[in-house]
Amino acid sequence: MKLTHLALTALTALALSGCAKSDKPNLILHVFECGHVEVSDISIFSPGVDEGVTKHLTNSCYLIQHEKGKLIWDTGLPDAMAGNPGEAFGGKLKLTVTNPLSKQLAEINVNPADIDYLGLSHFHGDHTGNANLFKNAALLIQQAEYDAAFGENPAQFGFNPASYDQINKEKINILDGDYDVFGDGSVVVKTAPGHTPGHQVLFVNLAETGPVVLSGDLYHFTKNREHKRVPSFNFDKEQTLAAMDVIEQFVDAEGAQFWIQHDLEQNKTIKHSPEFYK
Ligand SMILES: [Zn+2]
Repeated sequence: MKLTHLALTALTALALSGCAKSDKPNLILHVFECGHVEVSDISIFSPGVDEGVTKHLTNSCYLIQHEKGKLIWDTGLPDAMAGNPGEAFGGKLKLTVTNPLSKQLAEINVNPADIDYLGLSHFHGDHTGNANLFKNAALLIQQAEYDAAFGENPAQFGFNPASYDQINKEKINILDGDYDVFGDGSVVVKTAPGHTPGHQVLFVNLAETGPVVLSGDLYHFTKNREHKRVPSFNFDKEQTLAAMDVIEQFVDAEGAQFWIQHDLEQNKTIKHSPEFYK
């Protein structure tokens, strides 16, 4: 009895000292490079600006580990593209994968079957490429994106259903706006429509690093963020501009870092897996 009491006292003291350091949940965030996009005419992303100018974009995926579960945010270009480059936009985008996501997850001993939540910013093919790897995960998707991706004509929105046809249909979690994934405010899906009908971004509040917002394709690179330029192929320009305003106000209010998932230069300054943020 005495030992048990001592052990409990020690545990309580430990727990309390843990709390004193930070009241935020302990999250771990890994960043993965999930492909590369060589754009021969960047004005696709900034109508009327930099016509014919080449630009290289990266393509990022993320793993967030919370004590209540693991969430993948975006899944990149398909691993099958490794050694087998692709293209899009009539050849204006050259797509390559050098380091498959499944290999990067294996490196940190994470099995795709153990992922609980599949958060996709939207359903373009450079974000759904490896969605089918996560067969046990609950998809977090806005109603409008669901209607587009699983409706009559996904191709009309630029979606490729074969890239997500093995997502677990039993577990689809259709969202109507912002969604607090673990119920403690540490990981929140934020609605940001316009790029696609139900585009969304992710807020992650890390105990040591502080708050970070993962951009989805709200912008593809920093210059577009600075000038609020809307790509020619976005679903709805006005909706996109409104979402930019809402998210920028949120980023300011939270004092959050804003990580642009396709921005090659910014990503060079961000630690990639197997290193991580907490
Ligand atoms: Zn996109």
